[in-house]
Amino acid sequence: MIIPVRCFTCGKLIGNLWSLYEKKLEEGMSKCDALDELNLSRYCCRRMLLTHADMVDKLLCYNIYERKS
Ligand SMILES: [Zn+2]
Repeated sequence: MIIPVRCFTCGKLIGNLWSLYEKKLEEGMSKCDALDELNLSRYCCRRMLLTHADMVDKLLCYNIYERKS
């Protein structure tokens, strides 16, 4: 789904870091280095980005309003 705005455990703002994280991975940077560069030092915040599955594009294929019409 959509990345949560804040870390569930500590409350640090992480929602704005998702696009930067994806961009760094596309550039070929390792996940560890990308998280370090984004200044995510706590493991609770790191797991938020590491375990996130971005499925918004897949969910958009199942629009319930298209079926009704
Ligand atoms: Zn955290």
